Amino acid sequence: MHFVSNPIFDSASFPSEHPLGFRRVGAVVELCRLLGWLDDTRLVRSDEAPRKVLERFHAADYLDALQAADENQSAPREVRRRYRLGTPDNPIFRGMYARPARACGGSLKAAELVQRGGIAFHPAGGTHHGRPDRAAGFCFLNDPVFAILGLLDGGAERVLYVDFDAHHGDGVQDAFAADERVFTFSVHEAGRWPRTGALEDRGLGRARNLPLPAGGSDSELAWVLEAALLPWLAAITPDALVVQCGADGLFEDPLCRLEYSNGALWQAVADLVAAVPRAVVLGGGGYHPQALVRCWSGLWATLDGRKIPDELPAEGQVLLTGLGGGRRQHGNVEPRLLTSLADPPRPAPIRDEVRRAVATLGAA
Ligand SMILES: [Zn+2]
Repeated sequence: MHFVSNPIFDSASFPSEHPLGFRRVGAVVELCRLLGWLDDTRLVRSDEAPRKVLERFHAADYLDALQAADENQSAPREVRRRYRLGTPDNPIFRGMYARPARACGGSLKAAELVQRGGIAFHPAGGTHHGRPDRAAGFCFLNDPVFAILGLLDGGAERVLYVDFDAHHGDGVQDAFAADERVFTFSVHEAGRWPRTGALEDRGLGRARNLPLPAGGSDSELAWVLEAALLPWLAAITPDALVVQCGADGLFEDPLCRLEYSNGALWQAVADLVAAVPRAVVLGGGGYHPQALVRCWSGLWATLDGRKIPDELPAEGQVLLTGLGGGRRQHGNVEPRLLTSLADPPRPAPIRDEVRRAVATLGAA
């Protein structure tokens, strides 16, 4: 097990008024360290992906524009319009090139670390909406694409990409639509931006999508794995896996309406990595500060076989309290989100429409 990160992710990046404007990966590293789950022997530093490497997926003119916007902290109107930079979703801020370029480097590093087997966790990765020639949905570059390319470069013959984020993993699905070595599965909230990823959408044959209606529970996520995803995995027999574990499907998330507990996501990822010889596990969305930091810290612990304590030590509670309430949180954060790591499970009866959708995919 390797934990891949870079000091650039220790602090917040996006402006404070943005949904991503809080300390994310840095807080996960700090919490894992103070719980005794992470030391310097496990933490692998990612490097910035070189321009030539980024150009395997991204257009040179877009990279020029992004780099210039980061350097100048401004962009001409035509550049903003053409590359969707300087928008409310993808604002101009310091590090808007340097950080995603390191996230791409981290995803390549993670792929390299698991070449001979094992798991690498890279929570700064997971920017699944990035397009070759423009920014989209809080993403400037597409690091999961580089995790997959890295695994293929390392000799993997069939890569399965699984996306648990509440939003459809559109950028990754489209990037590999024509590549017969890559399979994608996205389970996301129905009707949510970018509004793609319908049940019928199979890409060019190797994509599967399962939109869950608002309210999706632990039981429904587990059912998706049992009746659709794991059987499909068994049929594909991938020799490498990339999982995007966005935390915006959690009950607390202020932007989305799925209702998973963090334990449901931990179990889903654990079930997947157990079924393949090598896996890269990425982060993604997640807009509730405490819910996100608890989720990814507990994910690392779960994959590393650690016992999660019922109550966090005082320093851990101080850390979570210090994250603040996030942009859309009003009033106080629920106490259990500051004192514990594991959520109570969120079971619910599986809805008929979900049963039908899963059956459709399971039979495909
Ligand atoms: Zn998302």
